Amino acid sequence: MESLVTTQPFASSADLADRPQTLEVLADGVYALTADGDPNIGAIEGDDFVVCFEALATPVAADKWLTMLREHTTKPVRYLALSHYHAVRVLGAAAYGATAIIAHDNTAALIEERGIEDWDSEFARFPRFAKGDETIPGLTRPTITFADRLTIDLGPTRGSLVLEHVGRGHTEGDIVAWLPQQKILFTGDLIEAEAALYTGDAFHREWSTSTLDRVREYGAEVLIGGRGPVVHGTAAVEAAIEQTRGFLTTLLTAVGGVQERGGTLEEAFAAAHDALVDQYGQWAIFQHCLPFDVARAWDELSGIERPVIWTPERDRALWDRLQR
Ligand SMILES: [Zn+2]
Repeated sequence: MESLVTTQPFASSADLADRPQTLEVLADGVYALTADGDPNIGAIEGDDFVVCFEALATPVAADKWLTMLREHTTKPVRYLALSHYHAVRVLGAAAYGATAIIAHDNTAALIEERGIEDWDSEFARFPRFAKGDETIPGLTRPTITFADRLTIDLGPTRGSLVLEHVGRGHTEGDIVAWLPQQKILFTGDLIEAEAALYTGDAFHREWSTSTLDRVREYGAEVLIGGRGPVVHGTAAVEAAIEQTRGFLTTLLTAVGGVQERGGTLEEAFAAAHDALVDQYGQWAIFQHCLPFDVARAWDELSGIERPVIWTPERDRALWDRLQR
């Protein structure tokens, strides 16, 4: 309970050390860059083009990744697919020179509705990711959007890449990238492997039931989550999905229990912390995420359908309320 009586540094404001990055070749022409708990990204080769999945926080950060990728392929980036709207995943888009930027319909709408506020909020929470932010030309706006599924033909021997929305979860507009021939799945923040879940913009009940059920139905043999190491093997993939579900259901049960008995948000935070800390407390960004997760779970269970927009002021006020 120590965290409840001391003042923690705000969000990830004290986390200033760069993380080691690892590029893994998962199959012929399929790449993942993981970063020891920082956001993961991917790239998939077609016969004469590349599809990138996720863009990172700034063009400077994206250039570093593209330099690593260029050691494996020099094909041009035709498509940049964004798993969801969060700033640290999309604002590096300018570096890719992509012909088209693909996202879910709801992601495009969310960027218009709350993209500026999210940019300010996330860069205050993660000052480390804001390095080089002067190279960001503005909001990243998708040029191709879809509601359910979009399939990209990679060429005669490479199969296809399926971009699909499997329900609301981490946000209102998450998509996954699925390679049916290689059985490799990029999930964005819908799944985390050994990293805490950020659920401040989430739909916990849908995410923890039908959305994760659909993620499981792919039968992936390799899974790249939003953060954490690449997951290899069907058993480990299922374990990662169920760990994600466990975090969500534990959070919902703890917050819902306090709410049902007429308790306060502060009590819900304490209950969620105690319920989650043994299994998830050592994972990346657990302390950072928990206040925002509890606040959104509380709202969702109170009947507030859509997540309230986060701003730097709202972030700080919540942090101060729940950490002291
Ligand atoms: Zn996110």
